[in-house]
Amino acid sequence: LSVIEGVEPRIAAATRAELTDQRASLKLIASENYASLPVLMTMGTWFSDKYAEGTIGHRFYAGCQNVDTVESVAAEHARELFGAEYAYVQPHSGIDANLVAYWSILAHRVESPVLERLGAKNVNELSEDDWETLRKSFAEQRVMGMSLDVGGHLTHGFRPNISGKMFHQRSYGTNAETQLIDYDKLLADARAFKPLILVAGYSAYPRRVNFAKMREIADEVGATLFVDMAHFAGLVAGKVFTGEEDPVPYAHLVASTTHKSLRGPRGGFVLATPEYAPSVDRGCPMVLGGPLSHIMAAKAVAFAEARTDSFRDYAAKVADNAKVLAEGLLKRGATLVTGGTDNHLVLIDTGSFGITGRQAESALLDSGIVTNRNSVPNDPNGAWYTTGVRIGTPALTSRGFGADEFDKVAELIVDVLANTTATTTAAGTPGKAKYTLADGVADRTKAASAEL
Ligand code: PLP
Repeated sequence: LSVIEGVEPRIAAATRAELTDQRASLKLIASENYASLPVLMTMGTWFSDKYAEGTIGHRFYAGCQNVDTVESVAAEHARELFGAEYAYVQPHSGIDANLVAYWSILAHRVESPVLERLGAKNVNELSEDDWETLRKSFAEQRVMGMSLDVGGHLTHGFRPNISGKMFHQRSYGTNAETQLIDYDKLLADARAFKPLILVAGYSAYPRRVNFAKMREIADEVGATLFVDMAHFAGLVAGKVFTGEEDPVPYAHLVASTTHKSLRGPRGGFVLATPEYAPSVDRGCPMVLGGPLSHIMAAKAVAFAEARTDSFRDYAAKVADNAKVLAEGLLKRGATLVTGGTDNHLVLIDTGSFGITGRQAESALLDSGIVTNRNSVPNDPNGAWYTTGVRIGTPALTSRGFGADEFDKVAELIVDVLANTTATTTAAGTPGKAKYTLADGVADRTKAASAEL
């Protein structure tokens, strides 16, 4: 930091402050973690200075021999870690990985048949008319993913994201009573909508998914099964999700981030079956430019870490701790979406405390507990205020928290939420998140957290 200090002291100070914040608070954001020192160190090297557009051994720049090594090692680890036949480690983030997956599917299922029919080797050989027809047919394709309302992600076909602008979209929800995915209803909806792509995966669904059933549904309607395992990749890598809960043997393509439960650098990757591998391999130039070589190097280090027994132990603890956290919240009177969890996250319905998700998030932050507000199914307060907070165990499990600590965390959360009073309702008060937190609660929560 002293090196940075000499150039831009404000950045050195912010970096120091961030370290303090991340260590002094209880980091319960389900998508965050603490990358290891080897991963952090690998991100900060001169690989950052190298351009390497293209693929391993086939680059558009000279002098990429060391990047080739980095990318090969990262891809090899990813294949072996997840038992995949092909891995593409260039995407810069989860959203990029999903874009690579979508455009690979479009390339394989929409573009290739047209090229074949017209006897063209690539799109540059198409006439203006044929190209225009092909461009229009990309925009006619359909995608079906989990509703945002019940935990899906924006990239699964929603209008504010490019995926919603690229595709016609329908979503599947959850059963109104159990709040679990209703596979029979999903099949019926998929039969009616006939998507080209069925997306499985979530950001805020606290349960495991049966990917064998998802594949059956996809096969039945002729869809490509694409799984976005951004949130739970660490549980797949750590063999907590096996059999029908492991997406890799069932999906045509799997995309992921590397920085959430997988505990790597910020980034993404795609796994694919051999039929989709050639189109995924064209991620650059399809939707990516030069890969972040320093980040690919850090992905390789993180994948190597994830192949160890100690990571398996960590992943098992992430899921065990989430159960303890859920039980600790339930026994103290909280209401949880789906009534609990069997993955790494818990969704608290803050309505039972008479407050919005935004008020809960703010009161918890005042008390040194970092979470994020999140919609619950049929949320009466909408996507901005919400009626939920999402909490996850990956980060604090990395800090060594076990069952005792997570039960205490549950106690602290309920103490804060039960002592928070809404001073306004969400509806009709845009921009406001008014609440009062009873005197002394923030201080006693911070003091108790410091003991953990
Ligand atoms: N997919 C899912 C399921 C996510 O939860 C997220 C991030 O929250 C993403 C994709 C996007 O990842 P990134 O923020 O790295 O683009």
